[in-house]
Amino acid sequence: MLLTPGPTPVPEFARKAMSDITIHHRTKEFEAIFEKTRNLLLELYDMPEVLMLASSGTGAMEACVTNLTRKKALTINSGKFGERFGKICKAFNIDYVELKNEWDTPVSVEDIKNTIKNDSNIDAIFIQVCESAGGLRHNIEQIASVVKKLNPEIMVVADGITALGVEKIDTTNIDALITGSQKAFMLPPGLAMIGLSAKAVTKIEEKPTGYYFNLASEIKNQKKNTTAYTAATTLIIGLGAILEKFKDIGFGNLYKQTALRAKATQEALKAIGFKIYPKNPANAMTTVYTEQSNEIRKILKNRYNVDIAGGQDHLAGKIFRINHMGLIEDFEAAWAVNATELVLDELGIRTFDGTANRVFAQTFYKGN
Ligand SMILES: *Cc1c(COP(=O)(O)O)cnc(C)c1O
Repeated sequence: MLLTPGPTPVPEFARKAMSDITIHHRTKEFEAIFEKTRNLLLELYDMPEVLMLASSGTGAMEACVTNLTRKKALTINSGKFGERFGKICKAFNIDYVELKNEWDTPVSVEDIKNTIKNDSNIDAIFIQVCESAGGLRHNIEQIASVVKKLNPEIMVVADGITALGVEKIDTTNIDALITGSQKAFMLPPGLAMIGLSAKAVTKIEEKPTGYYFNLASEIKNQKKNTTAYTAATTLIIGLGAILEKFKDIGFGNLYKQTALRAKATQEALKAIGFKIYPKNPANAMTTVYTEQSNEIRKILKNRYNVDIAGGQDHLAGKIFRINHMGLIEDFEAAWAVNATELVLDELGIRTFDGTANRVFAQTFYKGN
């Protein structure tokens, strides 16, 4: 049972949709598929433009940095993915300033306000909606609104790789919203998407930048339901199938189920003595702080067939992360916490009494 916060398992209906022969990307047949997928994406994003890129999520992060920063970037680092925005700036010799916090701590809105007020060169801010390194959620809605009030010309770029498809994101003040195929969209890795505001489109078109990640040429092509270079045809077919399924379920229902799964998992794990790591947990995953992370994960995988993620860098061996993104069966989520409780018993930490499963079921089905 793969329960890592990316990659997530590819459901059978999506695998079937992607199993046909490869079709040529410069055909009416593929244009029709592209158009259908693009329209569904526009609906999910609720933004005026959306681009699909043949790359992993980081490619879309790079494209946003290079296409939307003219003078100086403000990057928000509360974990590995926020840190990456700064590394991209550095790689391209783009001037940047970073606001750094511990991986359990969301950035302070005041800090952002003061940094922007004191530095008139900043023309773009880069932040995660959910920082997957520690499973925290930044207060993106408030941050975006504060930034736009200070200066509407500053581009607000949000990495929603573990947020889009998880929850409804208010895009009113967001200029670029990034995602990737292998997390909430349950596809194989290799496709990245960027939703854009009208202001972002204007800024990109004013000064086309780069070659492969030249978003101006992608906008021009994708408006006509084609791509500048060979499209990731198979993944786009898969994305169409996933988005149709999401629409059948109802976007709102999908978000509600994910939030409930996150809440029930957190309550169950707290009830058996675990501490939730982030100060403001996101719904994409449950992150627990424990010095026994490695032992717990090893037994979970080998004995109970539950594959969850650990931590990186200074959090290696100190946290574990259970995924809630995508379409996860109730019994799978319940089994994850039940198995975790069994592992605690095996490690002699806490005698098994079925608390995790009971609290999960109560929270999930009885609403308390
Ligand atoms: C996974 C992830 C990325 C990186 O995406 P890749 O597809 O591995 O390049 C970026 N940001 C966040 C928040 C992620 O969770």
